[in-house]
Amino acid sequence: MHYTGTIWRPPYEAASLLLEVTAGCTHHKCKFCTLYNDLPFKFKMSPMKDIEEDLREAGKTIRSWNGHGIDRAFLTGANPFVLSYDKLTAIAELIHKYLPSVKSIGSFARITDITPKSEEELARLHACGYDGLTIGIETGDDEALRFMNKGYTSADIYEQCKKLDAAGIHYSFFYLVSISGAGRGEIGAKLTADICNQTHPKLIGANMLTIYPDSELYAEIQRGNWQEEGELEKYKEVRTLIENLQIPTVFAAMGASNAYQFHGQLPKDKTKLLSFLDEIIGNVSEEELQRYRKSVHHL
Ligand code: SF4
Repeated sequence: MHYTGTIWRPPYEAASLLLEVTAGCTHHKCKFCTLYNDLPFKFKMSPMKDIEEDLREAGKTIRSWNGHGIDRAFLTGANPFVLSYDKLTAIAELIHKYLPSVKSIGSFARITDITPKSEEELARLHACGYDGLTIGIETGDDEALRFMNKGYTSADIYEQCKKLDAAGIHYSFFYLVSISGAGRGEIGAKLTADICNQTHPKLIGANMLTIYPDSELYAEIQRGNWQEEGELEKYKEVRTLIENLQIPTVFAAMGASNAYQFHGQLPKDKTKLLSFLDEIIGNVSEEELQRYRKSVHHL
């Protein structure tokens, strides 16, 4: 199999075939992000012959393990959904040729990857298997989106997710706790709840901001242009987000950036999640949480 650099995937894609179709990120400008800094290029698409070779190998190997195949493929790279409609359909055809058991195909996607695709194209992509995109919206706070160079607005999140809804493509969001900066976390959480409440994410995954010295955000902090929230403030921010969510969705804070991991189904588990967060806010010290943050050397 061809794999380039560190391969990132959401926790819930652990059982999916990880198929490299791209490496890196077309955007590569978010100030907090260091995820693809280990690559010597910004973005590349794999040659179709490499993708076909990997699928041939995966098909044979997986069938020799279980005699059946695998249900789902996850395309790797920061935003493979940026590929054109024609390329995405060609990749889906190859997946179905070598792994006919695959029922759905997922990937990370940027909001701007959806923009050039029409509703009809999205519906056809859904028909050939694309479903369950993971979108790092990060926040619904336009001031933070602009400062961090995310390259879209909260209105874009709403518009593009509406197209996915119409096409029947399900999606999940990643939310970046602390992206709004010190003193603004609860405002950012409420703005994010507003946008989530107008869309239909199957899951909202919370990651807590961990700032690394090779990020542009670190340089902004040194220049005095931005200030990070305290650790307890981050938990208050997540609490505000959950409190203000009114849609049925799964809320999960499960990655290494969260000192305390938790998840639940909303609205059923809302009270339980809020009580869990109140326990942390009331009983865990800022120092202890900061010690954890400093120990997160890699996400
Ligand atoms: S956060 Fe996502 S979109 Fe932004 S630079 Fe990193 S990988 Fe690319």
